[in-house]
Amino acid sequence: MIARILDLLYPALCELCQKTLKNGQALCPSCSLKLPRIQEPFCKNCGEMFEGNINDDFHCPNCLGSTHDFHFARAALKGNGSTFHLVHQLKYRRRFFLAPDLALLMDEAMEEDPRFAELAAHSDPPILVSVPLHWKRQQSRQGNQADELARAIAKIRDLPYLKALKRSRATQTQTKLNRKRRLSNLRGAFQIRHKALPQLRGRNIILIDDVFTTGATAHECTRILKHEGKASKVAILSLLRG
Ligand SMILES: [Zn+2]
Ligand SMILES: [Zn+2]
Repeated sequence: MIARILDLLYPALCELCQKTLKNGQALCPSCSLKLPRIQEPFCKNCGEMFEGNINDDFHCPNCLGSTHDFHFARAALKGNGSTFHLVHQLKYRRRFFLAPDLALLMDEAMEEDPRFAELAAHSDPPILVSVPLHWKRQQSRQGNQADELARAIAKIRDLPYLKALKRSRATQTQTKLNRKRRLSNLRGAFQIRHKALPQLRGRNIILIDDVFTTGATAHECTRILKHEGKASKVAILSLLRG
């Protein structure tokens, strides 16, 4: 609690250029503007950006031969030195005060992508759900970066945020595994929280994560949300397309 209060009070400098900031920001406007946004053309399935024109015949090499349960995946930013630094600070250095500024960039991606508005056209608003960490990992990191981002987006967008998933099994670190190995590593790793079950049925979900890489985590969470939670469509929104 004290650490969190200090986190809120401490950020007087821009995380990227060290310029002094006011108004509780963590990034100065000029650094924020320079972060590389994901822009058209990008794969409508996995969110990866491509050069040139993409027409109906386009097949994304990342998505070729793999099936995803999710409706679509969209990320706000491309990977570069600055964006990887920010994610690292948020994820491993417990710099959660970055979350509201980073959530604004995710909000920007939602705003310009009509598919999010389509999800919201449902009679009930979409529910924000974050990718959970195993409790042991969450304890050692003293929080979960995806929760922080989801809570911040819920505030900006006035959308419901639900702690719907739990990680029932600690998994091996995914970074060095390919998609197939990741999927088998994740099988059975997630469960629906009992309390959340009645609220999920028939609802559209926006699953929030910090980084989207192969889509294995997003796929597995979607599978559980749909099969156990009886959720309707699940879209993925991440900060970074890694
Ligand atoms: Zn700056
Ligand atoms: Zn793709």
